[in-house]
Amino acid sequence: MSSSAENDALVFWFTGLSGSGKTTIATSVADHIRKMGKQAKIFDGDDVRNILHRHLGFTPEDITENNRLIAHICVQHQKKADCILVPVISPFEKTRKEARTIIGGRFVEVYVKASLDEVIRRDVKGLYEKAINGRIENFIGISGNVPYEEPRDPDIVLDTEKLTVKACASALMTYVQKDWKRRG
Ligand code: ADP
Repeated sequence: MSSSAENDALVFWFTGLSGSGKTTIATSVADHIRKMGKQAKIFDGDDVRNILHRHLGFTPEDITENNRLIAHICVQHQKKADCILVPVISPFEKTRKEARTIIGGRFVEVYVKASLDEVIRRDVKGLYEKAINGRIENFIGISGNVPYEEPRDPDIVLDTEKLTVKACASALMTYVQKDWKRRG
């Protein structure tokens, strides 16, 4: 089903609760890659939704559709970059599997792990407080109809309660460098 070829961009698909650290780590890895003179692209779930898929909301169906569209965007850009970074909550196992199928062999699922307690404590955007107080509907991890399903078999786990941002980025850079070395 996928057209992914060996020389296509590596796609790091970051899944994890809002506030777990996906964007922070993706941005740091992109900086490292660009400093090496290579091309990195970031497709942030929120940006893609706001710019391209404004009609999509946060129902399970809309989340699934948004994730699917992002996977197709990755495929369109795989020949135009060295690495694609996708920070997108992507709460459903089924949707992440579908993204893997769409993108193919260059897909790397990165579970950016932080507990619900921790992300509520961080509350980077002040959204958890609103969701807990019922002022935001369909908030992933808080509202009953949109649970966050922990990845069953991720390629990489980055526990952001135990590792620093630098250590997380460096683990991914080791992966990138091994991959590029292997491909020559
Ligand atoms: P997300 O993109 O998953 O919604 P953000 O990257 O926007 O999350 O926010 C994550 C927050 O957690 C930031 O304030 C960041 O400084 C903090 N943080 C603490 N430890 C880490 C870590 N190891 N990796 C990434 N972020 C971390």
